[in-house]
Amino acid sequence: MGNGVLENLYHVAIAVNNLNEVEKIYETALGLKVAHREVVEDQKVSTSMLVPKDGGTAIELLEPTSEDSPISKFLEKRGEGIHHICYKVDDLESVLARLKEQGVRLIDETPREGAYNSRVAFIHPKAMNGVLIELAELKDN
Ligand code: ZN
Repeated sequence: MGNGVLENLYHVAIAVNNLNEVEKIYETALGLKVAHREVVEDQKVSTSMLVPKDGGTAIELLEPTSEDSPISKFLEKRGEGIHHICYKVDDLESVLARLKEQGVRLIDETPREGAYNSRVAFIHPKAMNGVLIELAELKDN
């Protein structure tokens, strides 16, 4: 505990127009299983977490629930596709403190509530060569 390091790649998130349709495609073609669905009011987004049979990195589908959702804006600008990647961390505050110390630009200076009983923070994509990176601390493991 208390270290500022990243753990494994938790999920790759994909912005989609129709979550139910995409779930079926990913289940049928890739053999992934829906492990969890959740609406994150804060982000105005419907999420679905699909996992491989033997565990490992999940795919998180994101469908906007409103036109002013950040995901709506992403879809308008770039269409469907990879939105962010997410690393699991053991201690989000320590990681954020280290990043701040290094002068890395953050979207979230402090943790906020995420899906799946997590606390999350995003690093600014401008600091990460165009990739939006989420850090997630899971409460129940
Ligand atoms: Zn995510």
